[in-house]
Amino acid sequence: MLGLMQDWPLLIPKVIDHAGLYHGNRKVISRSVEGPIVETTYSAIRRNALRVAKRLEKDGIRLGDRVGTVAWNTWRHLEAWYGITGLGAVYHTLNPRLFPEQIAWIANHAEDRMMMVDLTFVPLMEKLQDKLPLVERYVVLTDAANMPQTSLKNAVAYETWLDEVDDDFAWGSFDENTAAGMCYTSGTTGNPKGVVYSHRSNVIHSLTVNGPDMFGMASKDVIMPVVPMFHANGWSLAFTAPMAGTTMVMPGPKMDGASIYELLDTYKVTLSAAVPTVWLMLLQYLEQNGLKLPHLGKTVIGGSACPRAVTEKFRDVYGVEVLHAWGMTEMSPLGTICSLKPEVANLTGDAWLDIKETTGHPPFSVEMKIIDDEGTELARDGKAFGRLMVRGPAVAGAYFKGEGGNILDDNGFFDTGDVASIDPNGYMRIVDRSKDVIKSGGEWISSIDLENLAVGHPDVAEAAVIGIAHPKWDERPLLVVVPKPGRQPARDGVLAYMDGKIAKWWMPDDVVLVDEIPHTATGKIQKTALRDQFKAYRFPG
Ligand code: ADP
Repeated sequence: MLGLMQDWPLLIPKVIDHAGLYHGNRKVISRSVEGPIVETTYSAIRRNALRVAKRLEKDGIRLGDRVGTVAWNTWRHLEAWYGITGLGAVYHTLNPRLFPEQIAWIANHAEDRMMMVDLTFVPLMEKLQDKLPLVERYVVLTDAANMPQTSLKNAVAYETWLDEVDDDFAWGSFDENTAAGMCYTSGTTGNPKGVVYSHRSNVIHSLTVNGPDMFGMASKDVIMPVVPMFHANGWSLAFTAPMAGTTMVMPGPKMDGASIYELLDTYKVTLSAAVPTVWLMLLQYLEQNGLKLPHLGKTVIGGSACPRAVTEKFRDVYGVEVLHAWGMTEMSPLGTICSLKPEVANLTGDAWLDIKETTGHPPFSVEMKIIDDEGTELARDGKAFGRLMVRGPAVAGAYFKGEGGNILDDNGFFDTGDVASIDPNGYMRIVDRSKDVIKSGGEWISSIDLENLAVGHPDVAEAAVIGIAHPKWDERPLLVVVPKPGRQPARDGVLAYMDGKIAKWWMPDDVVLVDEIPHTATGKIQKTALRDQFKAYRFPG
């Protein structure tokens, strides 16, 4: 027997319809690429998204066509995402911080037919366009007054392009499993791989990640997504916030401490989301200028491990709750958020920090398990750790064009490439990436734990740990350190600082100072490059 409820497909345009109709006056405030702050509303964004869809159709874009975006977080980027998906076309966010050749490779692999480009990236795309034969037109996300002279093919200013149509348009009608968006993983091994989100997966994900124990945002909140829309589906905030009717503050191209602080303070932001490096910059700026954060209640920190010291400082000095989060492009992207369940709500001191340091628990719709090398499921006892496997309606089932072959196990679980433990309350703790874990004498050492500990040393600005081949132990940890300006931490001093805080056999065999540690385009430590750099390194003695 079938249920007798209505068939109401889960489509992205319905999200902006909802926001436009029921939260129509709520503001979206952006730092524009041109400079000034621009305020608009959900109802205006909806009207412009309808025009984007109508205008794209006039340019020959059809169901399933990919439209690339190379853009910061602004209202225009939002309008573009909703307009593209409203037509049944597919937004494809490109990360401008990748190597130009990689951007071209990805755009060609995705077969992008059109590009929507911020002013910042016009010179980049001018250099690349010869390598992008499939792109028929470049829409520059600006108005006529700010439109530069450009050689970009069929270039037009967004506002001029939009002015050619009105908003009398009906959203496309198609199946909820239709592709809505694409985002490539940065491809630390092999070529980048395309993750293809559907309307259904984006809607379900956005609903579940806004539960009270997750983002938990309401219409009275003001959210600032610092995480760029081109990182891992923009942590889905472009859908979650309009769904909840939450005011959005978009930082545009400026993500330095002063610019972020200005927006947080002026627009009384209550919730924000970004990778740890952004918050480290902000904390430094606040300290240097003796500033506080009276409006900010919570901040979601993820993408790489959030150091304990950051969580502690946010709470003790600024009264802000850090929600540590874990996810990946393949998961739409959120997997877990660390909010406190009743079982751990009353913890204090180190026990509290120990929980806050985990990446938390999953929302409904994310299933997780950990397995050993033979595929046997491991205990959820907070001690055993193994490969973290995930399953759910917003988890990738395959990569675009079948890259990487079958990526699921026999039970439909996806291997995250992370090594983790899960405790009896469901709190997951990332131990390492499976490629980065250090294998010493048949046991594993977490490079992440060592790095987090080392950055607590007063003279250490950044730390990375890699495994170096060892004749007896297979691999041993080498600690690579970027000192704070004007400091020169001694090897023995750093090791003495770590002593007693980790098992003896986890202690790095050596410490090397460097000026800089290589990073990926998403701001993570690039372990492959670092291992290359220390290929010839041998431990003393
Ligand atoms: P990319 O690999 O392209 O940079 P992803 O955002 O998909 O982009 O990376 C996902 C990976 O980032 C995860 O598999 C995990 O290794 C790491 N990661 C994400 N959040 C955390 C976190 N809170 N702590 C530790 N590692 C994290």
